[in-house]
Amino acid sequence: MLNLRNPSPRRFVVLGGGTAGWFAAITLRRIFSSEVEVQVIESSEIGIVGVGEGGLLNFIGALKHNNIDIGEFIRETGATWKWGFSYEGWRTGKEDDRFFHLFASQDTSVSRWQERSTWPYLSALVNQQVELDRYISASDLIRNNASQPEATALLDTQSAGVIPSFHFDSYKLATYLKKVALSRGVTHLDAIVEEIVADERGHVREVRTAGERIELDFLIDASGLSRKVIGRKEMGSCWQSFKDYLLMDSAIPFYMPHPLKNPGLVTRAITMDAGWMWQIPLQERVGAGYVFSSKHLSEKEAVAEVEKRLGFGIEPHKTLRFDPGCYEEVWKGNVMALGLSSGFVEPLEATSIGQMLEQLVSFERTIVSCQGVISDQAVCDFNEANLRSWQGIRDFLRMHYDGARSDTPLWQEVAKAPYPESYRALREAWQERMPRMTDVERDAINGWRGIFHPVNWTLVAAPMGVLTPHAAEMDLRILTPEKRDEALRFARLLKRRASGEAN
Ligand SMILES: Cc1cc2nc3c(=O)[nH]c(=O)nc-3n(C[C@H](O)[C@H](O)[C@H](O)COP(=O)(O)OP(=O)(O)OC[C@H]3O[C@@H](n4cnc5c(N)ncnc54)[C@H](O)[C@@H]3O)c2cc1C
Repeated sequence: MLNLRNPSPRRFVVLGGGTAGWFAAITLRRIFSSEVEVQVIESSEIGIVGVGEGGLLNFIGALKHNNIDIGEFIRETGATWKWGFSYEGWRTGKEDDRFFHLFASQDTSVSRWQERSTWPYLSALVNQQVELDRYISASDLIRNNASQPEATALLDTQSAGVIPSFHFDSYKLATYLKKVALSRGVTHLDAIVEEIVADERGHVREVRTAGERIELDFLIDASGLSRKVIGRKEMGSCWQSFKDYLLMDSAIPFYMPHPLKNPGLVTRAITMDAGWMWQIPLQERVGAGYVFSSKHLSEKEAVAEVEKRLGFGIEPHKTLRFDPGCYEEVWKGNVMALGLSSGFVEPLEATSIGQMLEQLVSFERTIVSCQGVISDQAVCDFNEANLRSWQGIRDFLRMHYDGARSDTPLWQEVAKAPYPESYRALREAWQERMPRMTDVERDAINGWRGIFHPVNWTLVAAPMGVLTPHAAEMDLRILTPEKRDEALRFARLLKRRASGEAN
């Protein structure tokens, strides 16, 4: 048991001043009274990872939950609207191979009509092989490279059909969150933590820098890829690697100018010979990077391939290496790892900040509902739910690599990569029916809005060919003939409109 009530805690230390650390500090400051100190220790000498420039469906909710003003956030972080992703080259590798995974809102006619756990309009669209984003109004603006004011105007009508999120500059984000945290009473120390001191139970009691000893009651390890506390052997937390299923393990981030007139409204994920390239459009620049498998490409070759593809030189900031996976228990004793420290899969679908925010929501729920007296079982339940969330992300990403590309050694190996058992089971069911809430709700720690809803899975599964018109047909058959006709009429109308636009 962890008793944070008696004696009452004096200090929470957050080790790390990146996106994860500052979000954690703001959350702790909000939930604890001012008698409890919340201190962030970070090192400007080490700095932050400096990537991670896109949020997910839960991002704006997290800002609001923490009483952060959205207008101020946009101004201070260079943020632009993010409505989802554009997947380019994931099936054939050709120029015209593109589909969108948009952050579909549950407030469209397609999502509102549910029958026996299915979405009939969505089934009809898959059955008639209509590009799925076409039912979302925001899709027209994305395709037409609309400006930010045009995008804001559509969101104001409440009919965009998307849950908006943001692209942002990661350095400006950390600076802004720090400003918010300090203004609310979070204390701050710029120093390198060199030593961790634990008691006989393994609870961390003190961290030491070159000049100071800081006593603490609870520690959030948000030290990024260095995993300064959770990664210690004494913590005994097992790493669950996903590398058999997800082959990417390296990335070179760089900046580039906007390729289009206006910043795009989606993150682009463009396949390359040994991986894929992200392009995140901000107000002033595009944050980009090549994520690749080091077994198939060297850093030098990666730079050369990007330069050939883009037609200009690039200057990568650094090379990042990672073993895709997560800790099975992110909360051990009086330590919880958060952000990159707790795990990292790869940047596809930009899941890292989204997962971190979900973990914080469930941490807050546990602490508040237990009122500081936290049983071992509560921690165990927390860790199990958190691990399932990571595994859901792993499966969702694995599906993105389930296309038909096999034109380079990497894509040939991807085609042969095994499926995690949980994804294999979903895939098998989806040969005969559409995705449902039951399939994925165990992955969502805090309900569907946090990570990915069955509609999100469908928006990727259908274009990737994991979900077929036959499976959709099977779900349409459970409807009355009138309802089936109504659903199919809608899909055919959208199909005619889409082909009219194409001609
Ligand atoms: C290639 C790549 C692309 C990514 N793209 C996305 C994306 O599009 N969307 C997304 O959601 N996420 C993305 N991520 C993940 C994202 O970068 C992180 O989730 C996010 O930035 C949070 O990082 P962090 O705060 O955990 O770590 P960091 O930003 O690395 O912060 C770690 C902090 O710990 C401090 N620190 C470390 N050791 C010590 C020590 N001994 N003493 C004192 N201080 C210390 C550092 O100074 C720093 O302040 C990406 C990650 C990578 C690697």
